[in-house]
Amino acid sequence: MSASVFVINAGSSSLKYQLVAVDSGEALASGLIERIGETTGRAMHQVPGRDDVVEQRVITDHAHAFGWVLRQFDAHGPDLDEAQLIGIGHRVVQGGARFDRAVLIDDDVAQQIDDLAPLAPLHNPANLQGIRSARATFPGFPHVAVFDTAFHLTIPPAAHRYAIDERVAADHRIRKYGFHGTSHQFVSRRMAELLGKPLEQVNTILLHLGNGASATAVRGGESIETSMGMTPLAGLVMGTRSGDIDPGVIFHLHRTAGMSIDEIDTLLNKRSGLLGLTGTGDMRDVQQAADAGIPRAVEALEIVAHRLRGTVGAYLAHLGRTDAIAFTAGIGENSPAVRTAALSGLEGLGIVIDPERNAGRGERCISAAGSAIEVWVVPTDEELEIARQVAALVG
Ligand code: ADP
Repeated sequence: MSASVFVINAGSSSLKYQLVAVDSGEALASGLIERIGETTGRAMHQVPGRDDVVEQRVITDHAHAFGWVLRQFDAHGPDLDEAQLIGIGHRVVQGGARFDRAVLIDDDVAQQIDDLAPLAPLHNPANLQGIRSARATFPGFPHVAVFDTAFHLTIPPAAHRYAIDERVAADHRIRKYGFHGTSHQFVSRRMAELLGKPLEQVNTILLHLGNGASATAVRGGESIETSMGMTPLAGLVMGTRSGDIDPGVIFHLHRTAGMSIDEIDTLLNKRSGLLGLTGTGDMRDVQQAADAGIPRAVEALEIVAHRLRGTVGAYLAHLGRTDAIAFTAGIGENSPAVRTAALSGLEGLGIVIDPERNAGRGERCISAAGSAIEVWVVPTDEELEIARQVAALVG
């Protein structure tokens, strides 16, 4: 068996993990612990080819959760020694302007992740909690932080700076950071392989469309523009997030509608996007409603597509020359209708989808033979990307 990496994604009340075989990319085991710290939690451990282990039980904190996970590996496998575990990879949401790549975690790095908490108050403290508990649970192993923002640190100042008072921006570290970097990096590399060209020669527009959604323009393997901003609220229309709106809306809601900042935060992050437009944040349900002719669902899809099309158009301009557009994540990989809608009307720019290829499944080219810019579906694998980055660092 080849080396494996234990990949961890810790949220404030959840813990997701996967044991990844680095060479094959196979998930040897995975699991999810939810409702940590609540009155009843739920824990699941999955090993391919075996029955899932699912337990409803109280899980007091992340340390407790890791204890449960280790017991599952002991009882149900796979054996971590046999799997040749070489390191632990931690997904960290915000790496600020400091971390442009994955790093080995020591006390100093942990402190810096903590210092970045004001920029990602919901995520970095939770990621750090996971790191602390995991370092205690797996003391003999190297732990590596892989940042969602790192891939985007190549975005030039003209694209990452906001046009606000420079002192205020500097004092509060306000700039575009971008997110989903691990996924965009994975897909951009894969896209170069699929086109059979060196990464340095390939320009791509990547559309990661899941519950969270972001677009990235990649020139020669480097991110040069992305749609999320200082926070993951900016850009495309998402499951529950608004994406771009006029910031003046916030002042208006505060002054005129009397909403507090926290209420507006909740509105834009949790009650907007597909959910706000249609009453459901799940694209499958929205499509079903649109197929049934429900006007607000039809219109929601038009809003989603309009934003996507505008973003693709802008990125074509930023790149100058584009080899391919790639769709990934839950919606990007599985929704022919969203892909078609997003790129409809761009035929004059050399982007033509083939309906039959678009209707298929799996990793494939979906553009028509004469399309100047190829269009692809490329399934993302963030865990594998994290595992590879860990292996590259410690292997
Ligand atoms: P996350 O950002 O939480 O990782 P995913 O990448 O899993 O999210 O994407 C979830 C989204 O993908 C949901 O809106 C879901 O409805 C959508 N999705 C999954 N399968 C399909 C499908 N067959 N058709 C349309 N949308 C789909």
